[in-house]
Amino acid sequence: MISKDKFIIDDSGLDKIKEEIQQEFSHGLAHHGTDVSMIPTYVYGLPDGTESGTYLSLDLGGTNMRVCEVHLSGDRRFSISQEKYKISDELKTGEFTDLFAYMAKSIGHFVATKSHAKQGDRLPLGFTFSFPVDQSAINSGKLIGFTKGFKAANAVGKDVVKTLQHCLDEQKIPVDVVALVNDTVGTLLAHSYQSGGAKIGAIFGTGTNGAYLENLSEILKLDDAAKNSKAGSKMVVNTEWGNVDNARSVLPINEWDDIVDSASINPQSFEKLISGMYLGEILRRFLVDMHSKKHFLSQLDKLPDSLNTQYGLDTALMSASLEDVEGAELTQTYKVMTDLGVSKDLIKKEDAELFRDGSKYIGLRAARLSACALAAVIESEVRENETGDINIGLDGSVIEFFPKFEQSMRDALKVLLGHEAEQRIKIGLAKDGSGVGAELMQPRKTSSSSSSRD
Ligand code: BGC
Ligand code: MG
Repeated sequence: MISKDKFIIDDSGLDKIKEEIQQEFSHGLAHHGTDVSMIPTYVYGLPDGTESGTYLSLDLGGTNMRVCEVHLSGDRRFSISQEKYKISDELKTGEFTDLFAYMAKSIGHFVATKSHAKQGDRLPLGFTFSFPVDQSAINSGKLIGFTKGFKAANAVGKDVVKTLQHCLDEQKIPVDVVALVNDTVGTLLAHSYQSGGAKIGAIFGTGTNGAYLENLSEILKLDDAAKNSKAGSKMVVNTEWGNVDNARSVLPINEWDDIVDSASINPQSFEKLISGMYLGEILRRFLVDMHSKKHFLSQLDKLPDSLNTQYGLDTALMSASLEDVEGAELTQTYKVMTDLGVSKDLIKKEDAELFRDGSKYIGLRAARLSACALAAVIESEVRENETGDINIGLDGSVIEFFPKFEQSMRDALKVLLGHEAEQRIKIGLAKDGSGVGAELMQPRKTSSSSSSRD
């Protein structure tokens, strides 16, 4: 394949990237306003699976929004009833308060039509918000910035809980937002509930990020009140690792990555190389360039519109193409390419191979970079405890659907942490994690709290 070396990270490269991530983590724990934000979440411990109750949550992800009612049965199991609501591009990029008013309206719709709560009760809600927020308590925090194609106006610096509460109150919806968690934190909490403890919650989906439990003494930037909290000696930190190496000192950024990033509405380095929103776009920019150099679809003067449009090549098509294993017919790849608008008789075997191999190398690089981020968190655990399972909860479309992603990630983890340590890592797909996790931050039934409805 032409230029495939531009997508390859060799084993020594992996180590350098992991070290860079660890340095940025330390820096972020000590200082405010860093690129890798290392956000203290005010979550002081993890669930053990005995929590119970029925609660509402709102999950705003990069692609979907859903309202859920989750029942935790106190034995590591849960059941969930949910409704998805579509977020239009206008809402993503329009006025911030319009987006939040729509979220409130959707909660109202769910409560009126789906929830089992008694009429007239005020209902507590956990809010899972998949964007960086500078938290000051479990139920407040200001938006640092949007990612993943969201750019609602007048949003940065706004308290997202207050804004949602205000919209709910205005629409007279009897719901109180009591907890705010990032989706990675939700995933960590949910996976910990399901497996009795977990080291990391991470998302490899539309965007990427990870959260883990850190010693309070290491979070140097925390103020004394939070540090001396009676709640515990540890706190979950939301790393926001998508911003690793924005200075581009170690990441292998090639000319196609560079265009993808500079043409996006929220530039950042690491997330672009890993997450589902951008992998297809990297392949597209690569193929467009190869076409201009007559190495791809050279029988075509002009590529079809899909290939000439930003985000016109969905990452899911790379997954489809990768169903064609090496040496076999390229049936799926031909189908993907014709679906993209290229007529079949103009596709040469080399064109299909370039499409499939491009998908493979871009995906492989994403998986290896993901391993660097996981290893950056896990390494200290591996050093401190020589045996025992290391549970990690993962969620997102890339880890779930991209062929061989988990295997490639594991291969890189072997290089980074050693074979034995890699074997101890137990990966759980925490599907629904971001919907369930926020529930786990709700006031518990065991207290005299009147807010549980079970
Ligand atoms: C956001 C994170 C989020 C991640 C996964 C990133 O773009 O900055 O807050 O956790 O996507 O959804
Ligand atoms: Mg999600």
